Amino acid sequence: MVVKLIRCPSCGEELELTDMYEGMEINCDLCNLVMVVQKGMLHVLDTNEIFSIDDLTSEEVEDTQKMEIDEFEEEEYYDYGYED
Ligand SMILES: [Zn+2]
Repeated sequence: MVVKLIRCPSCGEELELTDMYEGMEINCDLCNLVMVVQKGMLHVLDTNEIFSIDDLTSEEVEDTQKMEIDEFEEEEYYDYGYED
């Protein structure tokens, strides 16, 4: 299943999409903005603005943070492998 994260161009809320197809309507829960997928772009019905989907997707953002956490855990290694 494809999950895309689209940032609402109006309020910045991240909207989780499990699907994306031509003519699909996307509603923002926060500001009730309605967008329609058209030719790989997002058409905002309220304002008639067109946004590139690439500009609104936010993937790959957490990768660098995860790497920093891994390094930190290696230094503070404790063995809790015993049982009662
Ligand atoms: Zn919104």
